Amino acid sequence: MQFHKYDVVIVGAGGAGMRAAIESGQRTRTAVLTKLYPTRSHTGAAQGGMCAALANVEEDNWEWHTYDTIKGGDYLVDQDAAEVMAKEAVDAVLDLEKMGLPFNRTPDGKIDQRRFGGHTRNHGEAAVRRACYAADRTGHMILQTLYQNCIKHGVEFFNEFYVLDVVMTETEDGPVCTGAIAYELATGELHVFQAKAVVFATGGFGKVFKTTSNAHTLTGDGMAIVFRKGLPLEDMEFYQFHPTGLAGLGILLTEGARAEGGILRNDSGERFMERYAPTMKDLAARDVVSRAMSTEVREGRGAGPHKDYVLLDLTHLGADVLEAKLPDITEFSRTYLGIDPVDEPVPVYPTAHYAMGGIPTNITGEVLRDSEHVVPGLYAAGECACVSVHGANRLGTNSLLDINVFGRRAGIAAAEYVAGREYVEMPENPAAAVADMVERLHAADGRERVANIRTELQVTMDTNASVYRTEETLKQALHDVQALKERYARVSIQDAGLRFNTDLLEAIELGFLLELAEVLVVGAINRKESRGGHAREDYTSRDDVNFLRHTMAYRQPTDQSAETAVLDGLTAEIRLDYKPVVLTRYQPMERKY
Ligand SMILES: Cc1cc2nc3c(=O)[nH]c(=O)nc-3n(C[C@H](O)[C@H](O)[C@H](O)COP(=O)(O)OP(=O)(O)OC[C@H]3O[C@@H](n4cnc5c(N)ncnc54)[C@H](O)[C@@H]3O)c2cc1C
Repeated sequence: MQFHKYDVVIVGAGGAGMRAAIESGQRTRTAVLTKLYPTRSHTGAAQGGMCAALANVEEDNWEWHTYDTIKGGDYLVDQDAAEVMAKEAVDAVLDLEKMGLPFNRTPDGKIDQRRFGGHTRNHGEAAVRRACYAADRTGHMILQTLYQNCIKHGVEFFNEFYVLDVVMTETEDGPVCTGAIAYELATGELHVFQAKAVVFATGGFGKVFKTTSNAHTLTGDGMAIVFRKGLPLEDMEFYQFHPTGLAGLGILLTEGARAEGGILRNDSGERFMERYAPTMKDLAARDVVSRAMSTEVREGRGAGPHKDYVLLDLTHLGADVLEAKLPDITEFSRTYLGIDPVDEPVPVYPTAHYAMGGIPTNITGEVLRDSEHVVPGLYAAGECACVSVHGANRLGTNSLLDINVFGRRAGIAAAEYVAGREYVEMPENPAAAVADMVERLHAADGRERVANIRTELQVTMDTNASVYRTEETLKQALHDVQALKERYARVSIQDAGLRFNTDLLEAIELGFLLELAEVLVVGAINRKESRGGHAREDYTSRDDVNFLRHTMAYRQPTDQSAETAVLDGLTAEIRLDYKPVVLTRYQPMERKY
């Protein structure tokens, strides 16, 4: 076991983690622990853009951006946080430009901007050009730029280090974060990192679903680790399904395709979004478009031999536009479906894409331990966190923005917190729980296989907790997840070695996924309304009287009576509580696009 000491430890080297590291690394001794090589993080897969009201090509301002974000999130957004994000967006883009990011340009040399779903001029009048972009490789450019700047500032990276636990020390004033425990992939060794502050930036958990745009590594580790410590997760029932995944595969085709003029059509060639969203049409918010696509298919207007997808028509854009503005997705379609978007419309269907919920934080990135108190020394930012700027549904391009704005804030806050502060002692033998877990898995001789359980989990989540949900489907999902959790207790691994034992780590990641799937489903059963990405067929309207509030889900220790809010007949070891939504200037209204 090796021991390290840093002022600030950042877990995750995606956009959020590295943006935090640039700030913290310039101020204090900082280490970044990451299970992937930094530039392999999922931020690098982001395509379409990052929004900011620069007003480079059209009139725009941060207030309109704030309004769109709040409306897009179906009024579950904390409005103070949305204001911060929209205001700081402009500097966030300019900072990246100064760091060297090659944005696409207007003819007169300004950063070019394009339309994106739900981004409008003057409170919903028409689409506005707000998304800054680098072709359809915006995330790739962000990740490379941030990594180069981390290197420049001497940030220390521990690559292929899997953080498996966070260390907390109990004090008179409650728990304080004092470090993290990591497993080194190359050697199988455990490392104890003592720290004055830890920032979680571990990304999303899309792998609970089968059809997803997310990379294999997005297993929600940070969220699950924090949850297992008894800390809450916020609004986990809100999961975004992006309208345009390649049909049957889930690989993403950016909304930028519709922003550049792409049109969704059903089997008879009808531009069906005109019926669902007369003003914004194909550029309505994602939840609206995904439901419309799903409805077209359910009502028999889908395309293809099984009528199970719709078509994204880009043929009228011409080869030049596709090459210049959408080169990667054009290539994806050719490679994975054998369809050239220049000549033929592309089969698409909604794909699991983004977690609106996560580790609750305030606007400085401090993690909450309940609706009021923070955990000193513990921070979170990016997709694993919930500030909440995305509420019930995130607008496209608001996540690359979120990771930059709140990654920066968390990095500064953590560095300022540690300044002049002493190390708090860690509890005795802080790596014991992780060592036990690893040892148990090595010794396990059960007959259950990780891959089987994971596949069954993903199938039930796709079938029962997707774009449309009912009490019945959700209870089925819960039943299945709980049965899988039981089977997981009997899982064993094949690789007995210490070096590069991905078998072991996949087993641990599966444990995280099962935990988070259960939280998602329990929250969804309990939320008897439809709001944003959570569409209940048995409760079709939004219910502001009972549900204009954030869900806070806590792990209920097994030895306490499982007092769950719902679940007639089914017990989950989860306790649900609530947190009010912060409203500043926009009262909830009916949402029309
Ligand atoms: C295909 C695709 C396209 C997208 N396009 C856009 C877009 O155009 N615009 C937009 O705004 N958003 C887009 N998004 C969403 C956006 O890219 C992500 O939400 C965002 O990049 C997440 O950044 P992050 O830093 O929070 O996490 P990530 O970039 O996912 O990074 C997570 C980091 O955590 C590390 N990590 C995880 N677990 C552990 C562990 N246990 N121990 C150590 N390290 C760990 C990983 O190594 C990684 O470095 C897209 C997403 C996808 C999947």
